[in-house]
Amino acid sequence: MDCQKTREKINRYIDGELDAGQAEAVELHLDACPDCRAACLRSSAASRTVRAKSPGGSTGSSPSTAPATSP
Ligand SMILES: [Zn+2]
Repeated sequence: MDCQKTREKINRYIDGELDAGQAEAVELHLDACPDCRAACLRSSAASRTVRAKSPGGSTGSSPSTAPATSP
């Protein structure tokens, strides 16, 4: 996939509207193309709040209370 087609798909990729194969193709290109990766990051930041990449789950574990019991 070239840069132009990737850029065209970036918005849909961010919104999760691409098929698995298309999303994979975009990811492969983003992995190899810093320019498109930067464009993707900008678009994702502009479109909606970027989901933090949390591989586990989004069930609340807020590290708000840090243990301050170090000597
Ligand atoms: Zn590119």
